Amino acid sequence: MNKGQIESRLIEGNNRYIKDEEDLKSDVLLRQKLTDGQHPFAIVLSCADSRVVPEMIFDCNIGELFVVRVAGNIANSSSIASIEYAVANIGCELIVVLGHESCGAVTATIKGGDNGKNLNHLCSYISPSIELADDVQVNSVVKANAKYNAELLVKNSEIISGFVNSGKLKIQPAYYSLANGKVDFL
Ligand SMILES: [Zn+2]
Repeated sequence: MNKGQIESRLIEGNNRYIKDEEDLKSDVLLRQKLTDGQHPFAIVLSCADSRVVPEMIFDCNIGELFVVRVAGNIANSSSIASIEYAVANIGCELIVVLGHESCGAVTATIKGGDNGKNLNHLCSYISPSIELADDVQVNSVVKANAKYNAELLVKNSEIISGFVNSGKLKIQPAYYSLANGKVDFL
């Protein structure tokens, strides 16, 4: 699949999910087939929020998406290292950075203050988005954050920037609405 076909596949899967018409089904034959190796067609950097499950949202089966999940869908060293593997060794050509409505990590970042070493680390990847957003409403910052961390993937990875610059890789920020299940590419 080329990049356009991958995007179409994701949008079609999301449309099935919105209409409760998923045809996701793994079985023993598929699991056995995948023991030879994985060939996911896209990477998704998503929040850890339990309501945001990329495989379900895009109606994808096991082996189809390479998903990295961390609160606030941030591009830190760990998530970048995971994504670099999928780009360099598997050959994925599309990364979706998927923010979502009412994200708790973004809400905590807007609220500010000292949240302790670990959450402070996480929020430091989100806080620049407050300035970049149209306003300080959480969902505006979520959208800015998806775009900002998409840029960080390129800025902080020679592997990812190399593939982007040679036209072999596209990074697509996106926003997921909790109630209707729709993904909007930003
Ligand atoms: Zn979240």
